[in-house]
Amino acid sequence: MTANPCFDSYTAKNAYPISLKYSPEAGRYAVASRPIPTGDTVLKCLPFGVSLNHNCRRQACHTCGAYTLARSSLPLSCTTCKSVYYCSQSCKSKRSQYHQKYECPSFRDIHALSGPKFKRCFEDARKRLPESERYLADVYTYEDIQDNARWALGIMVRKQVEEDSLLHQSPTSFTHTFPTFADVLDLVGNESQIPSDERHQLHFIHEILSTLPSSSKKSTTPHHQQQQPHPHPTFSTFYKTHFLTPETFTSLLCIRQMNGFGLWDGANECLGHALYAFASYFNHSCAPNMVRDTGLRCADNMSNGHADENGSETITNSLANSSISDDCAPLTLEEITQVLLSEPSVSFRALHPITKDSGLHHSYIECTMSRKERLRILKEGYCFDCGCPRCVDVDRVDGEVDGVDSYVEKYVCGSCGAVRIPGEVCVRCGGVV
Ligand SMILES: [Zn+2]
Ligand SMILES: [Zn+2]
Ligand SMILES: [Zn+2]
Ligand SMILES: [Zn+2]
Repeated sequence: MTANPCFDSYTAKNAYPISLKYSPEAGRYAVASRPIPTGDTVLKCLPFGVSLNHNCRRQACHTCGAYTLARSSLPLSCTTCKSVYYCSQSCKSKRSQYHQKYECPSFRDIHALSGPKFKRCFEDARKRLPESERYLADVYTYEDIQDNARWALGIMVRKQVEEDSLLHQSPTSFTHTFPTFADVLDLVGNESQIPSDERHQLHFIHEILSTLPSSSKKSTTPHHQQQQPHPHPTFSTFYKTHFLTPETFTSLLCIRQMNGFGLWDGANECLGHALYAFASYFNHSCAPNMVRDTGLRCADNMSNGHADENGSETITNSLANSSISDDCAPLTLEEITQVLLSEPSVSFRALHPITKDSGLHHSYIECTMSRKERLRILKEGYCFDCGCPRCVDVDRVDGEVDGVDSYVEKYVCGSCGAVRIPGEVCVRCGGVV
């Protein structure tokens, strides 16, 4: 087995100091191809599929991920689907055609999820389960299902965009910048390790997502919908194109579980998820040598960059929240590229000097948890026994007390628990040491 050629050309083109290695025990993993000084960028990559949790949709920008802590909602939104919000007019305009073409109709169906039509759909799906398994359906709330639907939509849209624009066939511009669906499928999901109860629960979610009723008033039954020529597919039709079987849904969810990144705001709330295919070659350590930054910024004091010059006027303008029209102009490759480039990217920088050939690590979990808790979560959530110095050489870490040891004292932000370079501003909460 060799390294990923897409990844190799990506790192070479961007001069990232990484080589991929392979061993039967560790699989593929990344090492430093040269000595890396503190603070140097090791890798920066764009996501494949971003989704915000339904409950957090008002707090974070659908285009760039900028979030608000000071307000109950970002100023601009799409009033057609009531499901996406924007930090600025520029973020809204940039994504509006793309949103209209690929996302808005599906978001409308997801938004209607708690209505009476959906209650019937939920009951019908539950009845299709064998009687002895029906209790498995009862663990889900409408919100869980909305979150799963939003996550699936993020993947479907990104995959559809790749297919429509033939971006995947344009190696010079595409593979060097954007991850492809093939890169995502190449990741490890450890699917064989999920318990059968959980597998059945995921099949239930798949069943719901494939039969979600349309929120459109014109169509009353799924049969009727299929016969009507419709400019936009319903969520379920779109879903069934990309998630053919419950197994497809389960494998992608396992890939997310193993490789997904939480999008955290500065107050330690997880707003949603993103997959960064190339960043998944970094293994875990509870004493990581890199700082991770998902690029999410606080929109509250943003006076430049994404925000508009006349932002406050735009907000009070009645047109700001106008719903989008039904006419759907084709998107150019340039417009699509601009949307994808605005999505929150993840970057990794050296936390301290890294020697050539050392493994490159970030932490999949909060470093401030106790050793016992870390080992448990890594085993249950990621299916491995952590062999990092903080977990193995207990003596080396000067006697850990409640997850605090010399590593945490030196490299972890006292306010939010994120790893940060000593002396620098914390990338997650903005706190200074
Ligand atoms: Zn934005
Ligand atoms: Zn919309
Ligand atoms: Zn560990
Ligand atoms: Zn912090």
